[in-house]
Amino acid sequence: MKRIGGRKGLGKKAEILIVGSGLAGMSAGRVLSASGYQVTVFDKGFRCGGRYATRRIDGFSFDHGTPYFKPSQIPEDLKDILEKPYIRSWPYDLSEKGEDALVSMPAMRSFPEELGRGLDVRQGVEIEKLRFSDDVFIAETADISSGPYDAVLLTAPGPQTADLIEGLLPFGEDLLQAARKVTYAPQFSVLIGYDFLRDAPAIIHNPTPKIAKIVNQAKKPDRPKKSAFVVFCAPEWSLENLDRPKDEVAQIILKDLQNILFEHGVAGDGLDNPVYLAAHSWRYCRLETSAGLTPLAQIDPRSALAVAGDWIMLPDTHGALSSGIHAARQIEIKLSNRS
Ligand SMILES: Cc1cc2nc3c(=O)[nH]c(=O)nc-3n(C[C@H](O)[C@H](O)[C@H](O)COP(=O)(O)OP(=O)(O)OC[C@H]3O[C@@H](n4cnc5c(N)ncnc54)[C@H](O)[C@@H]3O)c2cc1C
Repeated sequence: MKRIGGRKGLGKKAEILIVGSGLAGMSAGRVLSASGYQVTVFDKGFRCGGRYATRRIDGFSFDHGTPYFKPSQIPEDLKDILEKPYIRSWPYDLSEKGEDALVSMPAMRSFPEELGRGLDVRQGVEIEKLRFSDDVFIAETADISSGPYDAVLLTAPGPQTADLIEGLLPFGEDLLQAARKVTYAPQFSVLIGYDFLRDAPAIIHNPTPKIAKIVNQAKKPDRPKKSAFVVFCAPEWSLENLDRPKDEVAQIILKDLQNILFEHGVAGDGLDNPVYLAAHSWRYCRLETSAGLTPLAQIDPRSALAVAGDWIMLPDTHGALSSGIHAARQIEIKLSNRS
């Protein structure tokens, strides 16, 4: 087994491993790196960002995870990002607070990518097991062993984080219990692209019982100017159809999209013939049951093992970002008490 990494000592030079390059992992990494820690991020996905996901294919750019977010979802510690060129206001979906939506540029996954700029981020690396002894952690993948690390932050969805903590018992016992009670609802996103550009509404909410939302990619700033839609299926319908082949799901939703666009005054010819059509199934989409952990409870009292993610307390952009920041602060306190 190959070994990578090496211990640099405690205090400001301590080495910290973050599992997951979604918003929680990247917000934590940003805080820890700014404080001088050596941060390594491993993520099993091909691309950075977790559920801030974008599929770029055949000249299309589909944001098939979070489609947009709101200024009020950015925690105080990160408010400076609202001025960055990779965040742009998108004047649709005004909420009851009268806020414009925000999108990131040139794709939704650019937000976590930019948050993690400068960090050592390695995609396509799945952590299968963690070990802890003599106050340090070793992380194992199928073919490498990495470490030692002075602290570890786990940000995968609760059920996946629980599997990793299990190997560390008796350390992390309370975190394991909290992560085990977390449940998510699955959801389909269907990606539909045409080789023409036709005007259509930016967002259509709840058009049928099958569909929660349709987002028109071409209406987002700086996206390819071809008609492209991400259809976010309703959670109930997604659950009922979870075992259906994805091709069938895509065909069913395509038919609905044609009718809905037609009802919204979009010319119907060619809508039955997209050049790109695919369904993506999110196993962990929206949180149903949270762990309900306070910031102080995000760290193991007996080791520098911490957890973050949208399952900690709040099921969205704000919850992921703020839990990452809280976990980073707890790790800093733990390591500074040690040095
Ligand atoms: C379709 C959809 C629509 C959404 N819409 C909205 C919305 O409108 N507004 C909103 O605020 N939120 C929305 N959300 C929720 C939002 O995307 C999430 O709350 C947020 O992105 C979660 O970030 P996270 O860092 O906690 O987790 P994630 O983004 O899931 O990141 C966890 C990462 O851990 C990695 N990982 C898991 N296990 C391992 C392992 N063993 N080794 C290495 N890496 C691992 C995964 O690959 C993943 O990248 C939506 C989500 C989806 C899927």
